[in-house]
Amino acid sequence: MQSALAILLSLGIAFSGLPHGPPRPAAMASAFSPATEVILLGTGTPYPDPAASGPATAVVVNGRMFLFDVGAGVMRRLKAANLPINGPEALFITHLHSDHTLGYADLILTSWVMRRRAPFPVFGPPGLQRMTNYLLAAYAEDIRIRTDGLEHEVASGYRVSVHQIRAGIVYEKDGVRVTAIAVQHGAWKESFGYRIDTTDRSIVISGDTRPSEALVKAARGVDILIHEVYSASRLAPEDRPGGKDWPRYCREYHTSDVELGHLAERIQPKLLILDHLIRMGASDDELLAGVRAGGYSGRVVIGKDLERY
Ligand SMILES: [Zn+2]
Ligand SMILES: [Zn+2]
Repeated sequence: MQSALAILLSLGIAFSGLPHGPPRPAAMASAFSPATEVILLGTGTPYPDPAASGPATAVVVNGRMFLFDVGAGVMRRLKAANLPINGPEALFITHLHSDHTLGYADLILTSWVMRRRAPFPVFGPPGLQRMTNYLLAAYAEDIRIRTDGLEHEVASGYRVSVHQIRAGIVYEKDGVRVTAIAVQHGAWKESFGYRIDTTDRSIVISGDTRPSEALVKAARGVDILIHEVYSASRLAPEDRPGGKDWPRYCREYHTSDVELGHLAERIQPKLLILDHLIRMGASDDELLAGVRAGGYSGRVVIGKDLERY
């Protein structure tokens, strides 16, 4: 298993060198498949980059799919990755910023139209139930017509069961444990990272956060650390009303490449994947140089949509 994993990781690194290149073919992935696989569905931010969908990550454990955030484009990325389009086993939301939730209605409704019949659980911060209720209310006419009209969708098949959570273990079933980590994301009262433990791997997804001691503690020695990042060297006030606060915003809400390098050196993940890339024009090399400048000397890759690890 160890050597298969090493091969898989090295393939991932090789492919990440191709700018928006093809994802690793499924056949190649399955030849070395560990029980647990991470698929980056969206590595972007609010900026509508066609090559980087809104934040979303799938963790697949022996065919069971768990989703972390549902940014814009998530359903189309699921299909492109050959993953189920009729709903996950469970969905975990890091926080309620729109870039992380714009695909929520898409996941709820499209998975239903794609033959989902039963609710799936959704875990996230307080406010998630209200958001869910409003989304379903917004689409009430669609739901009525699809159910009562000639489409004959399964009545109530669109439902989800919302769990508003606190830090700690939030899901544990058949060898998969998900633990919520309270992180600091500026003015957001509740924002979470998640740690996923399966029979063969441990994964931490930072969500949006400034440098977090809770995350360092929860992530020490993890197999894969997926962490958000912005470019420290490109940080500058923006030419717009309120744009002078942009650097302060980034420092209070997010983690720079240099800060991440410092964190990763303490965490010592087996692999660090940069995600939610606030580039501000920075190239892959500049971001990696920032991480190295922070003191991290381990394995690191720039996350690209549809890559598998
Ligand atoms: Zn975000
Ligand atoms: Zn955010």
